[in-house]
Amino acid sequence: MEIAVYQGVEGAYSQLVLEYFLSQRNSAAQTRGVDAYRELATRVAGERAAFGVVPVENAIGGTVREGYDLLAEFGLAPVAEIDWRTDHRLLGVNGSRIENVREILAHPLVIAECGRFLSSLPAARAIPCEDTGVAAREVARRGAPSVGALAPSAAADRYDLIELAAHCSDDPRTYSRFIVFAARPQAHAEPGSANGRKTSMIVAVEDAAGMLARVLAHFGDAGINITKLDSKPRLGFAREHVFYIDVCGDVRDRALSGALESVRRDARSVTLLGSYDAHCGAPIGGEGMHNVRVAVSASAPRVNAAPPRAVATFPRVARSSRPDGTRLHVGGVTIGDGEFTIIAGPCAVESREQMLEVAAGVASRGAIMLRGGAFKPRTSPYAFAGLGWDGIALLSEAGRLSGLPTVSEVMTIDQVERMSETIDVLQIGARNMQNFDLLKAVGQSGHPVLLKRGLSATIDEFLAAAEYILAEGNPSVVLCERGIRTFEPATRNTLDLSAIPVLRERTHLPVLIDPSHAVGVRRWIRPMCRAAKAAGAHGLLLEVHPNPAEAKCDSDQALTLDDFAEVIRDLDGISIWSNHEALV
Ligand code: PEP
Ligand code: MN
Repeated sequence: MEIAVYQGVEGAYSQLVLEYFLSQRNSAAQTRGVDAYRELATRVAGERAAFGVVPVENAIGGTVREGYDLLAEFGLAPVAEIDWRTDHRLLGVNGSRIENVREILAHPLVIAECGRFLSSLPAARAIPCEDTGVAAREVARRGAPSVGALAPSAAADRYDLIELAAHCSDDPRTYSRFIVFAARPQAHAEPGSANGRKTSMIVAVEDAAGMLARVLAHFGDAGINITKLDSKPRLGFAREHVFYIDVCGDVRDRALSGALESVRRDARSVTLLGSYDAHCGAPIGGEGMHNVRVAVSASAPRVNAAPPRAVATFPRVARSSRPDGTRLHVGGVTIGDGEFTIIAGPCAVESREQMLEVAAGVASRGAIMLRGGAFKPRTSPYAFAGLGWDGIALLSEAGRLSGLPTVSEVMTIDQVERMSETIDVLQIGARNMQNFDLLKAVGQSGHPVLLKRGLSATIDEFLAAAEYILAEGNPSVVLCERGIRTFEPATRNTLDLSAIPVLRERTHLPVLIDPSHAVGVRRWIRPMCRAAKAAGAHGLLLEVHPNPAEAKCDSDQALTLDDFAEVIRDLDGISIWSNHEALV
């Protein structure tokens, strides 16, 4: 079994960071705490652990030089940087109350981050402790209501503690930067854009006028952004300083390798720590990541005044976890940034003739994926509910003959495995967006999923539903906005086009628009398709029927093949809105 190591005991921030990193990579490695920083290095360098993690920077305390020094000393290869929001809670044993706490155990950096909070508890003394996990474990071990720990909420789960206060940091934006490392550099497909990779180094510079400026100018001259500069005297060398420097870019980028050559000429020494995936966007972690039991004490003003809010944090779907965006590859088709994918087909599979005609028709007019419902969620129990498995067979045959990958709605857990055998993408319908067991089942299947937004789901709820799927280890999810229910009856639903920029900002998952179910009326679909493309959607899901008048469901919104051709022609002049373009 592969292991990954952090310094501390269970519940430490480093463990949370490492687990997050492993989940992003779909790695089954187990995290294990070790006693000392050097042990992290020897285990990873000796390949007794695949990955290790060290903090390298704290938004309040500054550079954690031990982290950089450890990488340099053991020649370890940085893999990824993760900014983690350190959301400290005051934890205590069951029955404890904030006003009875006399000792608060915490890591020294945490004590520094919570200065104002600690001074609001004059009866309590802060006691430095080696890490947050140890602090929480010690509180549980002592079992005394007079002892508390400042630790993340995950530590409450781990040690069966309750939360006596939330938001204990002086500044809610506090975060720490961690670097995950391995024994050797990891294969990285592309050298990466300047945004996607970072490089760290320790540079010794002669202590003379203009020397530092001369060294740094090489980066600026090559158009390279310096994101960190910290100094300390170089031990054993009078009149020399070492600088901890981070820059954007990868050492394999021509600009950076050229700049480094010049830096080497002017500096006394350059220790290159390596290039790694840069963190992009807001820090991960913080509230809402874990469930804790909350103790509400009648005389604990802080808790009463500001009970912990359930702010949604969905680390796996968050844009910051994959700044370059997800591109899904399904049966030769790509969905995601830089593409505009048209999925078309009837609401329901009705017959072999219908399917073969519509499949060939949409394929020749620009669709690259075929839809068709075989298990239909119908509002009325008397409406046509689909052909079931016979319909799945027809859809898959039509897909094969037309060369289009297929998508169909899965309604129950027991359909997941069988449908995955012949259908390329499993659709979760609007009515099932919060069927959490079904979400977990498609998550476990690992099969690509098209997740529709619920009729009255907020964007947070939509993202939370996607997080369910990713949390099971399935990263292949496409989101689909299909209209929400509002007070407006003129259209079947209200197409929430503003969800496109919001989702594109908040998640790395591709976003499709289904205007058919949104407007419900054939002639209004075309302008919405244009709007969706212009607003930045990654594609469309459209209902098309060879003879809409005879469609067994959703006939008013079905496009004819001619309508479909018009819609596609109409999209020609609208350019694709790429990830790399700024929002404003
Ligand atoms: C469908 O796509 O046919 C469908 C039933 O959509 P929704 O779940 O969005 O209503
Ligand atoms: Mn439909």
